[in-house]
Amino acid sequence: MPDVKYVFVTGGVTSSLGKGIISSSLAKLLQARGYSVTIQKLDPYINVDPGTLNPYEHGECYVTLDGAETDLDLGHYERFLNVPTSQANNVTTGRIYQTVIEKERRGDYLGKTVQVIPHITDEIKRRIKLVGSGNKFDIVITEIGGTVGDIESVPYIESVRQLKWELGSQNCIVIHLTLVPYLSASGELKTKPTQHSVKMLLEAGIQPDILVLRTSKNLTADIKRKVALFCNVEENAVVESVDVSTIYEVPLNMLKEKLDHTVLRKFALSTAKEPPLAEWREFLKRLKNPKHTVKVGLVGKYAELPDAYKSISESFIHSGAMNECEVDVEYIHSEEITNDNVNERLKGLKGILVAPGFGSRGIEGKILTAKYARENNIPFLGICLGMQCAVVEFARNVLHLEGAHSTEMNRKTKYPVIDIMEEQKSITNKGGTMRLGGYKCTIIKNSLASKIYGKAEIVERHRHRYEFNNKYYDDFKKNGMVPVGINPESNLVEIVEIPSHKWFIGVQFHPEYSSTVVNPHPLFVSFIKACIN
Ligand code: GLN
Repeated sequence: MPDVKYVFVTGGVTSSLGKGIISSSLAKLLQARGYSVTIQKLDPYINVDPGTLNPYEHGECYVTLDGAETDLDLGHYERFLNVPTSQANNVTTGRIYQTVIEKERRGDYLGKTVQVIPHITDEIKRRIKLVGSGNKFDIVITEIGGTVGDIESVPYIESVRQLKWELGSQNCIVIHLTLVPYLSASGELKTKPTQHSVKMLLEAGIQPDILVLRTSKNLTADIKRKVALFCNVEENAVVESVDVSTIYEVPLNMLKEKLDHTVLRKFALSTAKEPPLAEWREFLKRLKNPKHTVKVGLVGKYAELPDAYKSISESFIHSGAMNECEVDVEYIHSEEITNDNVNERLKGLKGILVAPGFGSRGIEGKILTAKYARENNIPFLGICLGMQCAVVEFARNVLHLEGAHSTEMNRKTKYPVIDIMEEQKSITNKGGTMRLGGYKCTIIKNSLASKIYGKAEIVERHRHRYEFNNKYYDDFKKNGMVPVGINPESNLVEIVEIPSHKWFIGVQFHPEYSSTVVNPHPLFVSFIKACIN
Protein backbone atom coordinates (compact mmCIF):
# COMPACT_ATOMS: atom_id res chain seq x y z
CA MET A 1 0.00 0.00 0.00
CA PRO A 2 1.53 3.33 -1.01
CA ASP A 3 0.14 5.81 1.52
CA VAL A 4 -1.46 5.66 4.91
CA LYS A 5 -5.10 6.65 4.65
CA TYR A 6 -6.62 9.02 7.19
CA VAL A 7 -10.24 9.06 8.28
CA PHE A 8 -11.41 11.90 10.49
CA VAL A 9 -14.56 11.54 12.53
CA THR A 10 -16.21 14.77 13.67
CA GLY A 11 -19.46 15.32 15.49
CA GLY A 12 -22.22 17.89 15.22
CA VAL A 13 -25.50 18.97 16.81
CA THR A 14 -24.84 17.43 20.24
CA SER A 15 -22.23 15.48 22.11
CA SER A 16 -22.70 11.84 23.12
CA LEU A 17 -23.80 10.68 19.66
CA GLY A 18 -21.38 7.80 19.82
CA LYS A 19 -18.42 8.91 17.69
CA GLY A 20 -16.24 6.47 19.58
CA ILE A 21 -18.54 3.57 18.77
CA ILE A 22 -18.85 4.55 15.10
CA SER A 23 -15.07 4.89 14.85
CA SER A 24 -14.59 1.52 16.55
CA SER A 25 -17.22 -0.14 14.38
CA LEU A 26 -15.72 1.17 11.15
CA ALA A 27 -12.29 0.10 12.34
CA LYS A 28 -13.63 -3.36 13.16
CA LEU A 29 -15.07 -3.79 9.65
CA LEU A 30 -11.89 -2.58 7.96
CA GLN A 31 -9.80 -4.81 10.21
CA ALA A 32 -12.02 -7.79 9.36
CA ARG A 33 -11.36 -7.08 5.69
CA GLY A 34 -7.66 -7.46 6.36
CA TYR A 35 -6.55 -3.85 6.75
CA SER A 36 -4.48 -2.83 9.74
CA VAL A 37 -6.25 -0.01 11.48
CA THR A 38 -5.76 2.12 14.56
CA ILE A 39 -7.89 4.80 16.16
CA GLN A 40 -6.73 8.00 17.75
CA LYS A 41 -8.72 10.36 19.93
CA LEU A 42 -8.06 14.09 20.04
CA ASP A 43 -9.57 15.70 23.13
CA PRO A 44 -10.10 19.46 23.19
CA TYR A 45 -9.74 20.01 26.93
CA ILE A 46 -6.70 21.60 28.54
CA ASN A 47 -5.82 18.83 31.01
CA VAL A 48 -2.64 17.17 29.76
CA ASP A 49 -4.39 13.83 30.20
CA PRO A 50 -7.65 12.74 31.83
CA GLY A 51 -5.75 11.17 34.75
CA THR A 52 -6.43 14.21 36.90
CA LEU A 53 -10.12 14.41 35.96
CA ASN A 54 -12.81 13.37 38.36
CA PRO A 55 -14.85 10.53 36.76
CA TYR A 56 -17.95 12.70 37.24
CA GLU A 57 -16.49 15.04 34.63
CA HIS A 58 -15.46 12.64 31.93
CA GLY A 59 -16.19 9.07 32.96
CA GLU A 60 -13.54 6.46 33.54
CA CYS A 61 -9.86 7.06 32.95
CA TYR A 62 -8.61 4.25 30.71
CA VAL A 63 -5.03 3.04 31.07
CA THR A 64 -3.00 1.65 28.17
CA LEU A 65 -0.36 -1.04 28.39
CA ASP A 66 2.38 1.57 28.01
CA GLY A 67 1.03 3.44 31.01
CA ALA A 68 -0.87 6.33 29.45
CA GLU A 69 -3.94 7.65 31.26
CA THR A 70 -6.43 8.19 28.48
CA ASP A 71 -10.00 8.85 27.42
CA LEU A 72 -12.48 6.03 27.91
CA ASP A 73 -13.07 5.81 24.17
CA LEU A 74 -9.69 4.10 23.87
CA GLY A 75 -11.25 1.31 25.88
CA HIS A 76 -13.85 0.88 23.14
CA TYR A 77 -11.14 0.85 20.49
CA GLU A 78 -9.35 -1.99 22.27
CA ARG A 79 -12.51 -3.92 23.08
CA PHE A 80 -13.62 -3.82 19.44
CA LEU A 81 -10.26 -4.28 17.74
CA ASN A 82 -8.48 -6.49 20.25
CA VAL A 83 -5.29 -4.53 19.54
CA PRO A 84 -3.55 -2.49 22.24
CA THR A 85 -3.48 1.30 21.99
CA SER A 86 -0.74 3.51 23.37
CA GLN A 87 0.06 7.02 24.54
CA ALA A 88 0.07 8.26 20.94
CA ASN A 89 -3.58 7.26 20.51
CA ASN A 90 -4.85 10.00 22.81
CA VAL A 91 -3.83 13.64 22.55
CA THR A 92 -5.33 16.56 24.44
CA THR A 93 -5.09 20.30 23.90
CA GLY A 94 -3.13 20.44 27.15
CA ARG A 95 -0.51 18.08 25.76
CA ILE A 96 -0.30 20.01 22.49
CA TYR A 97 0.23 23.31 24.27
CA GLN A 98 2.68 21.75 26.72
CA THR A 99 4.84 20.55 23.80
CA VAL A 100 4.67 23.88 21.97
CA ILE A 101 5.45 25.88 25.11
CA GLU A 102 8.38 23.60 25.98
CA LYS A 103 9.73 24.11 22.45
CA GLU A 104 9.31 27.86 22.79
CA ARG A 105 11.25 27.86 26.08
CA ARG A 106 14.00 25.77 24.51
CA GLY A 107 14.31 28.39 21.82
CA ASP A 108 13.09 26.23 18.94
CA TYR A 109 11.03 29.12 17.55
CA LEU A 110 13.60 31.80 18.36
CA GLY A 111 12.60 35.14 16.86
CA LYS A 112 9.11 34.01 15.90
CA THR A 113 5.73 34.86 17.40
CA VAL A 114 4.22 31.55 18.52
CA GLN A 115 0.60 31.33 17.36
CA VAL A 116 -2.34 28.95 17.12
CA ILE A 117 -1.79 28.88 13.37
CA PRO A 118 0.68 27.56 12.41
CA HIS A 119 2.37 26.37 15.61
CA ILE A 120 -0.51 24.70 17.45
CA THR A 121 -2.02 23.31 14.25
CA ASP A 122 1.39 22.03 13.12
CA GLU A 123 1.79 20.20 16.42
CA ILE A 124 -1.71 18.70 16.05
CA LYS A 125 -0.89 17.55 12.52
CA ARG A 126 2.44 16.13 13.68
CA ARG A 127 0.67 14.08 16.36
CA ILE A 128 -1.87 12.77 13.85
CA LYS A 129 0.79 11.78 11.33
CA LEU A 130 2.95 10.25 14.05
CA VAL A 131 0.35 7.51 14.51
CA GLY A 132 0.45 6.80 10.78
CA SER A 133 4.25 6.79 10.53
CA GLY A 134 6.39 3.66 10.54
CA ASN A 135 4.11 1.75 8.15
CA LYS A 136 2.35 0.02 10.99
CA PHE A 137 -1.13 0.86 9.76
CA ASP A 138 -2.97 1.03 6.47
CA ILE A 139 -5.67 3.28 7.87
CA VAL A 140 -5.67 5.70 10.80
CA ILE A 141 -9.03 6.81 12.14
CA THR A 142 -8.85 10.02 14.16
CA GLU A 143 -11.82 10.97 16.28
CA ILE A 144 -12.11 14.65 17.14
CA GLY A 145 -13.66 15.09 20.59
CA GLY A 146 -16.34 17.67 21.22
CA THR A 147 -18.78 19.13 18.73
CA VAL A 148 -18.14 21.24 15.65
CA GLY A 149 -18.66 24.86 16.62
CA ASP A 150 -17.12 24.51 20.08
CA ILE A 151 -14.47 27.16 20.71
CA GLU A 152 -12.08 24.45 21.90
CA SER A 153 -12.36 22.41 18.69
CA VAL A 154 -11.37 25.18 16.29
CA PRO A 155 -7.64 24.35 16.02
CA TYR A 156 -8.46 20.66 15.46
CA ILE A 157 -10.98 21.36 12.72
CA GLU A 158 -8.49 23.72 11.07
CA SER A 159 -5.82 21.00 11.22
CA VAL A 160 -8.20 18.57 9.55
CA ARG A 161 -8.88 21.13 6.82
CA GLN A 162 -5.16 21.55 6.21
CA LEU A 163 -4.50 17.81 6.17
CA LYS A 164 -7.33 17.22 3.74
CA TRP A 165 -5.75 19.79 1.46
CA GLU A 166 -2.22 18.44 1.90
CA LEU A 167 -2.97 14.74 1.58
CA GLY A 168 -5.63 14.89 -1.09
CA SER A 169 -9.07 13.34 -1.24
CA GLN A 170 -7.77 9.85 -2.03
CA ASN A 171 -5.84 9.77 1.22
CA CYS A 172 -8.01 11.68 3.62
CA ILE A 173 -11.74 11.73 4.23
CA VAL A 174 -14.04 13.24 6.82
CA ILE A 175 -16.99 11.45 8.36
CA HIS A 176 -19.39 13.75 10.16
CA LEU A 177 -21.76 12.33 12.73
CA THR A 178 -24.99 14.21 13.45
CA LEU A 179 -28.40 13.74 14.99
CA VAL A 180 -31.72 13.45 13.19
CA PRO A 181 -34.24 14.03 15.96
CA TYR A 182 -37.75 12.61 15.89
CA LEU A 183 -40.49 15.06 16.84
CA SER A 184 -43.25 13.00 18.34
CA ALA A 185 -45.79 15.85 18.21
CA SER A 186 -45.63 16.02 14.42
CA GLY A 187 -44.42 12.46 13.96
CA GLU A 188 -41.47 13.59 11.85
CA LEU A 189 -37.72 13.09 11.59
CA LYS A 190 -35.96 16.41 11.23
CA THR A 191 -32.87 17.02 9.09
CA LYS A 192 -32.40 20.73 9.75
CA PRO A 193 -29.91 20.30 12.62
CA THR A 194 -27.80 18.16 10.30
CA GLN A 195 -27.91 20.79 7.57
CA HIS A 196 -26.84 23.48 10.03
CA SER A 197 -24.08 21.37 11.42
CA VAL A 198 -22.68 20.62 7.96
CA LYS A 199 -22.88 24.36 7.14
CA MET A 200 -20.72 24.99 10.16
CA LEU A 201 -18.16 22.50 8.90
CA LEU A 202 -18.28 24.11 5.46
CA GLU A 203 -17.65 27.51 7.04
CA ALA A 204 -14.49 26.00 8.51
CA GLY A 205 -13.52 24.90 5.01
CA ILE A 206 -14.38 21.23 5.31
CA GLN A 207 -16.74 19.37 3.01
CA PRO A 208 -17.61 16.12 4.78
CA ASP A 209 -17.37 13.02 2.58
CA ILE A 210 -19.70 10.81 4.57
CA LEU A 211 -22.52 11.65 6.96
CA VAL A 212 -23.58 9.28 9.69
CA LEU A 213 -27.01 10.18 11.00
CA ARG A 214 -27.85 9.05 14.49
CA THR A 215 -31.58 8.46 14.83
CA SER A 216 -34.14 6.67 16.96
CA LYS A 217 -36.26 5.72 13.91
CA ASN A 218 -35.25 4.30 10.56
CA LEU A 219 -34.63 6.91 7.88
CA THR A 220 -36.54 6.78 4.62
CA ALA A 221 -34.77 6.95 1.29
CA ASP A 222 -36.35 10.37 0.88
CA ILE A 223 -34.71 11.72 4.00
CA LYS A 224 -31.34 10.37 2.95
CA ARG A 225 -31.75 11.93 -0.49
CA LYS A 226 -32.69 15.26 1.03
CA VAL A 227 -29.67 15.26 3.35
CA ALA A 228 -27.40 14.27 0.46
CA LEU A 229 -28.70 17.10 -1.70
CA PHE A 230 -28.54 19.82 0.93
CA CYS A 231 -25.23 18.72 2.38
CA ASN A 232 -23.51 18.08 -0.92
CA VAL A 233 -22.60 14.43 -0.32
CA GLU A 234 -23.27 11.34 -2.43
CA GLU A 235 -26.54 9.64 -1.65
CA ASN A 236 -24.89 6.38 -0.72
CA ALA A 237 -22.57 8.29 1.62
CA VAL A 238 -25.48 9.10 3.91
CA VAL A 239 -25.43 6.42 6.54
CA GLU A 240 -28.11 5.65 9.08
CA SER A 241 -27.08 4.85 12.65
CA VAL A 242 -30.22 3.80 14.43
CA ASP A 243 -30.35 3.26 18.21
CA VAL A 244 -29.56 -0.33 19.18
CA SER A 245 -29.76 -2.31 22.39
CA THR A 246 -26.02 -2.99 22.55
CA ILE A 247 -23.04 -1.09 21.17
CA TYR A 248 -21.68 -4.39 19.85
CA GLU A 249 -24.41 -4.45 17.24
CA VAL A 250 -23.21 -1.24 15.63
CA PRO A 251 -20.52 -2.87 13.44
CA LEU A 252 -23.17 -5.08 11.85
CA ASN A 253 -25.43 -2.10 11.27
CA MET A 254 -22.57 -0.20 9.69
CA LEU A 255 -21.90 -3.22 7.50
CA LYS A 256 -25.51 -3.19 6.40
CA GLU A 257 -25.20 0.51 5.63
CA LYS A 258 -21.95 -0.21 3.74
CA LEU A 259 -19.97 2.37 5.70
CA ASP A 260 -16.77 0.35 5.28
CA HIS A 261 -17.45 -0.12 1.60
CA THR A 262 -18.00 3.61 1.03
CA VAL A 263 -14.81 4.49 2.91
CA LEU A 264 -12.73 2.02 0.89
CA ARG A 265 -14.26 3.20 -2.35
CA LYS A 266 -13.34 6.79 -1.55
CA PHE A 267 -9.77 5.66 -0.91
CA ALA A 268 -9.80 3.57 -4.09
CA LEU A 269 -8.94 0.53 -1.98
CA SER A 270 -10.16 -2.95 -2.70
CA THR A 271 -13.62 -3.86 -1.47
CA ALA A 272 -13.46 -7.34 -2.91
CA LYS A 273 -13.38 -9.30 0.33
CA GLU A 274 -16.48 -9.26 2.51
CA PRO A 275 -15.49 -8.92 6.17
CA PRO A 276 -15.73 -12.31 7.90
CA LEU A 277 -17.35 -11.57 11.24
CA ALA A 278 -18.27 -15.06 12.42
CA GLU A 279 -16.68 -14.63 15.84
CA TRP A 280 -18.41 -11.32 16.34
CA ARG A 281 -21.80 -12.72 15.34
CA GLU A 282 -21.30 -15.68 17.65
CA PHE A 283 -20.57 -13.29 20.52
CA LEU A 284 -23.75 -11.33 19.76
CA LYS A 285 -25.79 -14.49 19.58
CA ARG A 286 -24.61 -15.54 23.02
CA LEU A 287 -25.12 -12.05 24.37
CA LYS A 288 -28.70 -11.90 23.18
CA ASN A 289 -29.73 -15.43 24.13
CA PRO A 290 -28.55 -15.93 27.69
CA LYS A 291 -29.36 -19.18 29.49
CA HIS A 292 -28.89 -17.71 32.96
CA THR A 293 -29.12 -14.38 34.71
CA VAL A 294 -27.08 -13.36 37.72
CA LYS A 295 -27.27 -10.24 39.79
CA VAL A 296 -23.87 -8.84 40.66
CA GLY A 297 -23.25 -5.86 42.91
CA LEU A 298 -20.71 -3.26 41.86
CA VAL A 299 -19.85 -1.34 44.98
CA GLY A 300 -18.12 1.98 44.50
CA LYS A 301 -18.49 5.67 45.07
CA TYR A 302 -19.59 6.70 41.58
CA ALA A 303 -22.64 4.43 41.53
CA GLU A 304 -24.85 7.09 39.93
CA LEU A 305 -22.55 7.35 36.92
CA PRO A 306 -22.03 4.02 35.14
CA ASP A 307 -19.52 5.65 32.74
CA ALA A 308 -17.15 5.85 35.69
CA TYR A 309 -16.91 2.04 35.56
CA LYS A 310 -17.15 1.61 31.80
CA SER A 311 -14.43 -1.02 31.43
CA ILE A 312 -15.81 -3.05 34.32
CA SER A 313 -19.35 -3.08 32.97
CA GLU A 314 -18.10 -4.01 29.49
CA SER A 315 -15.98 -6.79 31.02
CA PHE A 316 -19.17 -8.14 32.58
CA ILE A 317 -20.80 -8.12 29.15
CA HIS A 318 -17.90 -10.02 27.53
CA SER A 319 -17.59 -12.56 30.32
CA GLY A 320 -21.36 -12.89 30.61
CA ALA A 321 -21.68 -13.73 26.92
CA MET A 322 -18.88 -16.25 27.27
CA ASN A 323 -20.90 -17.94 30.04
CA GLU A 324 -24.19 -17.48 28.17
CA CYS A 325 -25.29 -15.43 31.11
CA GLU A 326 -26.90 -12.06 31.43
CA VAL A 327 -25.09 -10.12 34.13
CA ASP A 328 -27.47 -7.76 35.84
CA VAL A 329 -25.15 -5.22 37.44
CA GLU A 330 -26.51 -3.34 40.41
CA TYR A 331 -24.53 -0.19 41.07
CA ILE A 332 -24.33 0.30 44.81
CA HIS A 333 -23.09 3.42 46.49
CA SER A 334 -20.59 2.42 49.17
CA GLU A 335 -21.51 5.46 51.27
CA GLU A 336 -24.95 3.92 51.74
CA ILE A 337 -23.60 0.77 53.34
CA THR A 338 -23.41 0.70 57.12
CA ASN A 339 -22.97 -1.92 59.79
CA ASP A 340 -26.71 -1.88 60.37
CA ASN A 341 -27.89 -2.30 56.80
CA VAL A 342 -25.12 -4.28 55.11
CA ASN A 343 -26.87 -7.66 55.28
CA GLU A 344 -30.14 -6.25 54.04
CA ARG A 345 -28.51 -4.11 51.34
CA LEU A 346 -26.35 -6.85 49.80
CA LYS A 347 -28.80 -9.71 50.23
CA GLY A 348 -29.59 -11.62 47.06
CA LEU A 349 -26.44 -10.69 45.17
CA LYS A 350 -24.77 -13.66 43.50
CA GLY A 351 -21.41 -11.93 43.35
CA ILE A 352 -19.79 -8.72 44.52
CA LEU A 353 -17.16 -6.53 42.94
CA VAL A 354 -15.59 -3.72 44.92
CA ALA A 355 -14.43 -1.06 42.52
CA PRO A 356 -11.18 0.85 42.16
CA GLY A 357 -11.07 4.36 43.51
CA PHE A 358 -9.24 7.10 45.32
CA GLY A 359 -9.78 8.87 48.62
CA SER A 360 -11.69 8.02 51.74
CA ARG A 361 -15.28 8.81 50.77
CA GLY A 362 -17.37 5.67 51.21
CA ILE A 363 -14.37 3.58 52.25
CA GLU A 364 -15.93 1.96 55.33
CA GLY A 365 -18.86 0.78 53.18
CA LYS A 366 -16.42 -0.95 50.86
CA ILE A 367 -14.65 -2.59 53.79
CA LEU A 368 -17.98 -3.80 55.21
CA THR A 369 -18.86 -5.16 51.77
CA ALA A 370 -15.66 -7.21 51.64
CA LYS A 371 -16.46 -8.59 55.09
CA TYR A 372 -19.97 -9.51 54.03
CA ALA A 373 -18.70 -11.34 50.93
CA ARG A 374 -16.01 -13.16 52.90
CA GLU A 375 -18.27 -14.25 55.74
CA ASN A 376 -21.16 -15.28 53.51
CA ASN A 377 -19.06 -17.15 50.96
CA ILE A 378 -20.19 -14.92 48.09
CA PRO A 379 -17.92 -14.69 45.05
CA PHE A 380 -15.85 -11.55 45.48
CA LEU A 381 -13.60 -9.67 43.14
CA GLY A 382 -11.74 -6.67 44.54
CA ILE A 383 -10.00 -4.46 42.02
CA CYS A 384 -7.18 -2.16 43.12
CA LEU A 385 -8.79 -0.15 45.94
CA GLY A 386 -11.25 -3.05 46.14
CA MET A 387 -8.42 -5.45 46.89
CA GLN A 388 -6.95 -3.00 49.40
CA CYS A 389 -10.32 -2.89 51.20
CA ALA A 390 -10.41 -6.68 51.38
CA VAL A 391 -6.91 -6.66 52.87
CA VAL A 392 -7.84 -4.01 55.44
CA GLU A 393 -10.99 -5.93 56.36
CA PHE A 394 -9.07 -9.18 56.79
CA ALA A 395 -6.47 -7.44 58.95
CA ARG A 396 -9.10 -5.92 61.21
CA ASN A 397 -11.42 -8.89 61.59
CA VAL A 398 -9.27 -11.99 61.14
CA LEU A 399 -5.81 -10.84 62.21
CA HIS A 400 -7.47 -8.65 64.89
CA LEU A 401 -5.31 -5.67 64.08
CA GLU A 402 -7.69 -3.07 65.36
CA GLY A 403 -7.80 0.10 63.29
CA ALA A 404 -5.76 -1.43 60.47
CA HIS A 405 -6.00 0.73 57.36
CA SER A 406 -4.39 2.00 54.22
CA THR A 407 -2.21 5.01 54.85
CA GLU A 408 -4.08 6.71 52.02
CA MET A 409 -7.08 6.93 54.36
CA ASN A 410 -5.35 7.14 57.73
CA ARG A 411 -1.75 8.22 57.68
CA LYS A 412 -1.30 7.45 61.37
CA THR A 413 -2.82 3.97 61.50
CA LYS A 414 -1.04 1.60 63.87
CA TYR A 415 -1.31 -1.18 61.28
CA PRO A 416 -0.58 0.17 57.80
CA VAL A 417 -1.43 -3.04 55.92
CA ILE A 418 -1.66 -0.97 52.73
CA ASP A 419 1.09 1.60 52.44
CA ILE A 420 2.50 4.04 49.92
CA MET A 421 5.40 2.80 47.83
CA GLU A 422 8.79 4.10 48.88
CA GLU A 423 9.44 5.76 45.51
CA GLN A 424 6.06 7.51 45.67
CA LYS A 425 6.80 9.26 48.95
CA SER A 426 8.76 12.13 47.48
CA ILE A 427 6.39 12.74 44.57
CA THR A 428 4.29 15.88 44.87
CA ASN A 429 2.94 16.26 41.33
CA LYS A 430 -0.36 14.43 40.91
CA GLY A 431 -0.45 14.07 37.10
CA GLY A 432 0.93 10.87 35.56
CA THR A 433 3.01 9.90 38.56
CA MET A 434 1.35 6.69 39.74
CA ARG A 435 2.46 3.12 39.10
CA LEU A 436 0.98 3.03 35.63
CA GLY A 437 0.63 0.51 32.83
CA GLY A 438 1.72 -3.08 32.37
CA TYR A 439 3.73 -4.90 35.02
CA LYS A 440 4.62 -8.56 35.30
CA CYS A 441 3.12 -10.82 37.89
CA THR A 442 4.24 -14.33 38.77
CA ILE A 443 1.47 -16.59 39.99
CA ILE A 444 2.02 -19.28 42.61
CA LYS A 445 1.25 -22.84 41.46
CA ASN A 446 -2.01 -24.50 42.45
CA SER A 447 -3.66 -21.23 43.37
CA LEU A 448 -7.11 -20.34 42.05
CA ALA A 449 -5.51 -17.53 40.05
CA SER A 450 -3.07 -19.91 38.37
CA LYS A 451 -5.94 -22.18 37.36
CA ILE A 452 -7.87 -19.22 36.00
CA TYR A 453 -5.02 -17.80 33.95
CA GLY A 454 -3.58 -21.18 33.02
CA LYS A 455 -0.07 -19.75 33.16
CA ALA A 456 2.54 -18.71 35.66
CA GLU A 457 3.44 -15.31 34.33
CA ILE A 458 1.06 -12.55 33.30
CA VAL A 459 1.21 -8.84 32.55
CA GLU A 460 -1.57 -6.61 33.82
CA ARG A 461 -2.19 -2.87 33.89
CA HIS A 462 -1.81 -0.74 36.98
CA ARG A 463 -2.93 2.64 38.24
CA HIS A 464 -2.23 3.23 41.91
CA ARG A 465 0.19 4.57 44.49
CA TYR A 466 -0.46 2.27 47.44
CA GLU A 467 0.53 -1.38 47.90
CA PHE A 468 0.12 -4.39 50.11
CA ASN A 469 2.60 -3.93 52.96
CA ASN A 470 4.94 -6.95 52.85
CA LYS A 471 5.64 -6.59 56.57
CA TYR A 472 2.34 -8.42 57.09
CA TYR A 473 2.88 -11.02 54.35
CA ASP A 474 3.37 -14.01 56.68
CA ASP A 475 0.50 -13.04 58.98
CA PHE A 476 -1.94 -12.95 56.09
CA LYS A 477 -0.68 -16.17 54.57
CA LYS A 478 -0.83 -18.06 57.89
CA ASN A 479 -4.36 -16.91 58.54
CA GLY A 480 -5.89 -17.73 55.19
CA MET A 481 -5.58 -14.73 52.89
CA VAL A 482 -2.75 -15.79 50.61
CA PRO A 483 -0.71 -13.48 48.37
CA VAL A 484 -0.53 -15.65 45.25
CA GLY A 485 0.63 -13.13 42.65
CA ILE A 486 3.92 -11.26 43.05
CA ASN A 487 5.76 -8.83 40.84
CA PRO A 488 9.10 -10.55 40.14
CA GLU A 489 11.13 -7.32 40.07
CA SER A 490 9.78 -5.47 43.09
CA ASN A 491 8.27 -8.29 45.17
CA LEU A 492 5.05 -6.28 45.40
CA VAL A 493 1.87 -8.27 45.99
CA GLU A 494 -0.38 -8.31 42.93
CA ILE A 495 -3.04 -10.92 43.80
CA VAL A 496 -4.49 -12.18 47.07
CA GLU A 497 -7.01 -14.95 47.52
CA ILE A 498 -8.77 -16.89 50.27
CA PRO A 499 -8.46 -20.60 49.43
CA SER A 500 -11.14 -21.64 51.93
CA HIS A 501 -13.69 -19.36 50.26
CA LYS A 502 -15.79 -20.28 47.24
CA TRP A 503 -14.21 -17.57 45.05
CA PHE A 504 -12.44 -14.64 46.67
CA ILE A 505 -9.79 -12.73 44.75
CA GLY A 506 -8.30 -9.29 45.14
CA VAL A 507 -6.06 -7.86 42.45
CA GLN A 508 -3.87 -4.78 42.71
CA PHE A 509 -4.08 -4.34 38.94
CA HIS A 510 -6.96 -3.64 36.57
CA PRO A 511 -8.09 -6.69 34.60
CA GLU A 512 -11.04 -4.69 33.22
CA TYR A 513 -8.75 -2.69 30.91
CA SER A 514 -7.76 -5.74 28.92
CA SER A 515 -11.06 -7.53 28.46
CA THR A 516 -12.21 -7.54 24.83
CA VAL A 517 -15.05 -9.07 22.82
CA VAL A 518 -12.74 -11.69 21.34
CA ASN A 519 -10.75 -12.18 24.56
CA PRO A 520 -12.95 -11.76 27.62
CA HIS A 521 -10.73 -11.46 30.67
CA PRO A 522 -10.26 -14.86 32.37
CA LEU A 523 -10.75 -13.41 35.88
CA PHE A 524 -14.15 -12.02 34.91
CA VAL A 525 -15.11 -15.21 33.06
CA SER A 526 -14.27 -17.30 36.11
CA PHE A 527 -15.94 -14.86 38.49
CA ILE A 528 -19.22 -14.98 36.55
CA LYS A 529 -19.01 -18.77 36.37
CA ALA A 530 -18.69 -18.84 40.17
CA CYS A 531 -21.68 -16.49 40.48
CA ILE A 532 -23.82 -18.82 38.34
CA ASN A 533 -22.96 -21.92 40.37
N1 GLN B 1 -6.26 4.74 45.78
C1 GLN B 1 -5.56 3.50 45.67
C2 GLN B 1 -4.09 3.71 45.35
O1 GLN B 1 -3.70 4.75 44.93
C3 GLN B 1 -6.20 2.60 44.65
C4 GLN B 1 -6.19 3.14 43.27
C5 GLN B 1 -7.14 2.46 42.35
O2 GLN B 1 -8.08 1.80 42.78
N2 GLN B 1 -6.95 2.60 41.06
O3 GLN B 1 -3.30 2.81 45.53
